[in-house]
Amino acid sequence: LVQADPAAIETVDDTIVTLARQDVVWDRVGKFFSQPGDEQVKSINLIEFAGNDLDVVESQTKALCAQLDALIGQDHEAVGYQLAVTDVDIASLWELRSKGVGLLGNAEGNRRPIPFVEDTVVPPEHLAAYIKEFRQVLDHHGLEYGMFGHVDVGCLHVRPALDLRDEDDEKLIRIITDAVKNLVLKYGGVVWGEHGKGLRGEYMPEFFGPELYSDLRRIKQLFDPANKLNPGKLVTPIDHPDQVKKLDNVPLRGHRDRQIPVAVREDFDVSIHCNGNGACFNFDLDDVMCPSYKFTRDRIHSPKGRAGMMREWLRQLTRADYKLDTEDDEIGRLTQPTSPESDFSLEVFEAMDGCLSCKACTSMCPIKVDIPDLKAKFLNRFYTRYQRPLKDKLIAFGERTHHRMLPVPFLYNAGVKLPFYDRLMRNVVGLVDTPQLSSPNYQSRLAKAGVQVLKEIELSWLRACDLSKVIFILPDAITSFYEAGTFVDCVLFFKRIGYEPIVTPFIENGKGQHVKGFLQEFRQTASQAARQLNALSSLGRPIIGIDPAITLTYREEYRMYLDRQEVDVWLAQEWLANELPHRASTLPQLGKADVALLGHCGEKTSIQASGRQWQAVYKAFGLELEMVKAGCCGMAGAFGHEAIHYEESKGIYEQSWKPKLSAAGPGRQFVATGASCRSQVQRFEGVELAHPLQFLSRLLG
Ligand code: SF4
Ligand code: SF4
Repeated sequence: LVQADPAAIETVDDTIVTLARQDVVWDRVGKFFSQPGDEQVKSINLIEFAGNDLDVVESQTKALCAQLDALIGQDHEAVGYQLAVTDVDIASLWELRSKGVGLLGNAEGNRRPIPFVEDTVVPPEHLAAYIKEFRQVLDHHGLEYGMFGHVDVGCLHVRPALDLRDEDDEKLIRIITDAVKNLVLKYGGVVWGEHGKGLRGEYMPEFFGPELYSDLRRIKQLFDPANKLNPGKLVTPIDHPDQVKKLDNVPLRGHRDRQIPVAVREDFDVSIHCNGNGACFNFDLDDVMCPSYKFTRDRIHSPKGRAGMMREWLRQLTRADYKLDTEDDEIGRLTQPTSPESDFSLEVFEAMDGCLSCKACTSMCPIKVDIPDLKAKFLNRFYTRYQRPLKDKLIAFGERTHHRMLPVPFLYNAGVKLPFYDRLMRNVVGLVDTPQLSSPNYQSRLAKAGVQVLKEIELSWLRACDLSKVIFILPDAITSFYEAGTFVDCVLFFKRIGYEPIVTPFIENGKGQHVKGFLQEFRQTASQAARQLNALSSLGRPIIGIDPAITLTYREEYRMYLDRQEVDVWLAQEWLANELPHRASTLPQLGKADVALLGHCGEKTSIQASGRQWQAVYKAFGLELEMVKAGCCGMAGAFGHEAIHYEESKGIYEQSWKPKLSAAGPGRQFVATGASCRSQVQRFEGVELAHPLQFLSRLLG
């Protein structure tokens, strides 16, 4: 491969490829491994040719392919190859490679890959022999590991999996580091290939000899005579008394994490397992990863910052003898007035409260650090020490109270329209732009449209009905309560294409309770909802949710809080994308429309195929649907309605959504799946976006 003179050769080992198969990136690169037998593909080499002359690049590529063709089938040679030529495919494969570090952190179990023998480099001709011996060292200690690296220059990144909270594993750091250092010396390399990081300064004299080492110390003396820059890491100034730090004398993160009891570590494992790779420091405004960090540029408002704050909070509370094992454990009320200086909980609160619970990190972080759940667990304990604000209760139990007001929306709305209401809500309660209930409500509108709305789930009665064309539609507290017109149009879509939609009774979902950390109440709400929905699902007909955030709660948070039990509720596009291709000849073709989808963050990241599913649904009606690459809309449920977050919510909206909407040409129509997203556009642009089903429904109607 080196002789073919490519611009780069990167290797990705079997551990990383196996982990990548479970990651969102596989959605984009899986097609390169989709031939029969490709599930056996373990490690891969990525070989890139680049240049300004396409003919030269093509002939180099062809020559290598011919060489590989001649070798395929021979022992210890390549088993096959694939060509990636489009920018998108090439970028996706590089993404697979660059995600390697993060994916390694996503391994199961307490032992996690640790970067302490990273970044060694040996002459490429010795690399194979070096890797063989390296593996023997790790295998001898029974360790799992992931390897990737830049084969063409002999540089290797290896992360053996250790549990640094275990003292025996910690001892292996010294043993393995010494062994690898000896191997690198044997093969004529150095242990600092690209980054020069790590605690390996003590080996410098062995690698560089006394003369060069003294010169390095003199250089350090000139630039940093007081030894202030990364003191003791590589060399110390020649006239300074300090010595280079040795591996055994430096506290590792495991020392601190070990102070947190095992049960607490397991409960809060996402914060413990953040491996700090920093994929969450994303600056692309049209990418969904961490809007709060993008807006504030403050690391405590990133997933990594929040995970780190939580670890320290757990450690401090453990040292102060608080129990945190269960949701019922309290951290105790304080009798003294407090400030962030005297109670670290308040600093953690600031970091957590700034999280939108948008869930981008939950899928996009390579190790799936789930900050919204961490935030819920934190708030759950935090409010055993401090008084809950009224707004949290209104958000958590809003679906219950508003459901009670549904029969008389005009009464509720009369209150909302009172002249002092906005001021009261903003200044006293802390909420802004609170929506009005739709009037007439969705039940009356559906009754008028001839759609059946169940008052309760009576299984025996339903079993006696002909359900062959029935689709159960689940009303949620956002779309159906505040956007009844949208909800009804979505329901009518199914009727208009020949199904019999039946709207279920309203069932509390509990999303707001989880977001605000009312975990005992959430567990109760979830188990009641699961019981009813599982009974309904026993009828064998699909149950469809309209709002993505609410619907995804059934499979994500419910799974976590109901002992891995999921509730079978489909998002409309998931079910339709499977169903409509079988009915292609019966569906009307709707002509031309310039329509583009602004997706919901949680939906886009949790269900990578979501965009393609929507496109398939539109295609079934002869329509092209363009996907808009955009970040977060900034609303995220109730976040944008909290007065304290208003400016941030607006700022996030202006970073990505606003420019997309403003740049649209005449005739372009946008649709959005999230009720929060639509309400954000409504409040800042005064424009009503349709739900993608509603858009189709109107064309069909
Ligand atoms: S939270 Fe950020 S730093 Fe931590 S593992 Fe996830 S992407 Fe990496
Ligand atoms: S949920 Fe969203 S805002 Fe919160 S940490 Fe994750 S990405 Fe950032």
